[in-house]
Amino acid sequence: MDPAELLKALVAIPSVSGAERALADHLAGLLGAEGFQVQRHGDNLCFEVGTTGPRLLLVSHLDTVPPCAGWSADAHKPWWAGDRLFGLGANDAKGCVTAMVLAALALRDQSFGARAVFAFVAGEEVGGKGIQELLPVLGELDAAVVGEPTGLTVCTAQRGMLILTCRARGESAHVAHAHLGENAVHKAARDIARLDALRFEPHLLLGEARAQVTMVNGGLAKNQVPDLCEFIVDVRSTPNLDHTALTTLITAELESDVTVFSDRYRPVATEPGQAVVRAALAAAGTQGGTGSATASDWAFLGHLPAVKAGPGDTYRSHRPDEWLSLGELRAGAAFYEKLVLNYAQLASRESHHG
Ligand SMILES: [Zn+2]
Repeated sequence: MDPAELLKALVAIPSVSGAERALADHLAGLLGAEGFQVQRHGDNLCFEVGTTGPRLLLVSHLDTVPPCAGWSADAHKPWWAGDRLFGLGANDAKGCVTAMVLAALALRDQSFGARAVFAFVAGEEVGGKGIQELLPVLGELDAAVVGEPTGLTVCTAQRGMLILTCRARGESAHVAHAHLGENAVHKAARDIARLDALRFEPHLLLGEARAQVTMVNGGLAKNQVPDLCEFIVDVRSTPNLDHTALTTLITAELESDVTVFSDRYRPVATEPGQAVVRAALAAAGTQGGTGSATASDWAFLGHLPAVKAGPGDTYRSHRPDEWLSLGELRAGAAFYEKLVLNYAQLASRESHHG
């Protein structure tokens, strides 16, 4: 299978979240023709390479965000400029999907002591529906690699996302008789200043989490003391403070009532001694893992030891004229193949010791 043609074919099939069917059909057909036993659950695909040993999941996503403004040509009609393929999803994450398919093809003809479980899922950009549907049917897994554009940097920690709804309550009154009321906007303002000053213990790879107030809504009339002011707080959390701990800390700090709006995107990290981390670092030819600020399906993998790595650049994602170079794609395919082989070696050594 020609890497350049495969990447272009996948980018040429639009797959905005919720409309992944055509791409899943195409990829399932193509993998089936190569002899892989592909299972399909909705628009999520999975297949396994290798027959014995620990099971390593390699997962990436089929869906893309909708095309944004500013593309210099049709985002759904990929084009080459030099060795760069431009098109929506080329970087995030069809380059990773293509590299994983190429790695699966290379691994098919080798014997190694692990099972590589490949999964290409829908709905990653809109809440991780695909991976959550697929996980229960994948069976027991020992470790995971999440394919996202990281420039083949091995991310061993990833921020989570905690969103809180805060409600400052007061009492209405005519502004002329403000002493009779209690101004909820003023109360919210005091809380917002507290949040701005709030500091959390930094994480070694990710740094500090900061509470950001992203929306404020209060007041009904220009001449009325407001009795309610609502504001939203977004915390890109770090794994040293889980969402329960963060919510407790913030609630204790504020006069407003605090409720959790969303806490599903858990912050995650994997210990450097884990086989999957060592295998990935050796495949990348680097020493230490890095932290990643962007969320991914890793948030839904529970306590499975995992890393996030793939060809491409996170700063090209969700922007006009997204691209991936053929060199990056080939390096990505070689990286995933080496990672699986390294993992098989390390994991079998560990089980002999254990
Ligand atoms: Zn992505």
